[in-house]
Amino acid sequence: MTGSAVWHPFTQHALEPPMKRITKTEGAYLIDEDGSHVLDAISSWWVITHGHRHPVIMAAIRAAAQRYDQLIFAEYTHAPAEELAGGLIALAPPGLAYAFYSDSGSTSVEVALKMALGFFHNRGEKRNRIVVMEHSYHGDTIGTMSTGERGVFNAAYEQLLFAVDKLPFPEAGREQETLDVFEHLCRSGDVAALLVEPLVVGAGGMKLFSSSVLSQLKTIADRHEVLLIADEVMTGWGRTGTVFACAQAAITPDILCTSKGLTGGALPLAATLCRAEIFEAHLSTDRRKTFFHSSSYTANPIACAAAVANLAVWRDEPVQARIDALAEMHRERLARFAYDPRFENVRQLGTIAALDLKAAAGGYLAEVGPKLRAFFRQRNLLIRPLGNVVYLMPPYCITATELDSAYEAIDEAAYHFGVSA
Ligand SMILES: *Cc1c(COP(=O)(O)O)cnc(C)c1O
Repeated sequence: MTGSAVWHPFTQHALEPPMKRITKTEGAYLIDEDGSHVLDAISSWWVITHGHRHPVIMAAIRAAAQRYDQLIFAEYTHAPAEELAGGLIALAPPGLAYAFYSDSGSTSVEVALKMALGFFHNRGEKRNRIVVMEHSYHGDTIGTMSTGERGVFNAAYEQLLFAVDKLPFPEAGREQETLDVFEHLCRSGDVAALLVEPLVVGAGGMKLFSSSVLSQLKTIADRHEVLLIADEVMTGWGRTGTVFACAQAAITPDILCTSKGLTGGALPLAATLCRAEIFEAHLSTDRRKTFFHSSSYTANPIACAAAVANLAVWRDEPVQARIDALAEMHRERLARFAYDPRFENVRQLGTIAALDLKAAAGGYLAEVGPKLRAFFRQRNLLIRPLGNVVYLMPPYCITATELDSAYEAIDEAAYHFGVSA
């Protein structure tokens, strides 16, 4: 018994200490019941972009709550959803024309898969294979687990997951292999879509690949009329240095999924953006061609208002300058680990920094993971390594001194838990 009725996510209650209660969030911090300020160096699972409780977003939520709660989004529309869709289309890579709302990253990917399959179904083309990249993570529903890396996370559900084709991860120097496998799969003729996390495979270990691979994958997809779905749930909203990662490859995916930072992280909301052709393939006087998808809380007006306020923050505040400064701060601080024998694969893209601690065993269940987490927790740092992969993905308001404390702790942790060469 834990004395609480709450079952927490990704938590082995038999092994965890009692949960600290957070009573307030502020800027880069979670403030707990003892008044301790915990530095949120992973943006509360990658959702908080500007900082906790950004005043512009909070004010928009208060204002929207004076007018709306949930309202049905079939038959009716509302200003926050309309304004947000227009703003997203303007900000996203050029050529995306429609936005479909849901409420989490997983559902945004489910919607994307259904859009892609519906596109071919409605055109009478028999294409239903999905190609994914090794180490990917796209969510925890049965559909998105099917497209993600198989392992300890989904062993219990394996029998129910649908089959996908997998590209080898484009490790530096071995990119051609990934492209060749994709080309080969596309030639089979029944591939509907390639689903990828652009430039950074996140939950799979913060693995980076080059923008040129992404643009070449898009070229191959186009050649075979295969749709490219970019899962920008994590990479969106500046994490990789640009608003969306696809911009760095100068590509427009056929479908783009966004969620985590869409409201600045304040409220749950997701959008799946698509090209006009995909919408049009569902546009018909034949009702059977309808896009049959909804969730109860589709386009929640208060969440949409928060996202509209997020767009205003991007427009009115020097967000890009903050991102560039954070990227530079990472660069300076990572430099000291580059030739450190306790670490390998020291890497960075925009506001994301990661390094692999050399430990006795790697992988997500690596013994070192929970030990590191406890070590950081003792120092009031929220850092949750993915196995032996230590990464920082802080909100953009973090200061140089705060970031220093995170890097100092990583350095110190390596003395305790690393196995130096
Ligand atoms: C977090 C994440 C998801 C799932 O988002 P949820 O909101 O947790 O459902 C999907 N794709 C990627 C790349 C993610 O990082």
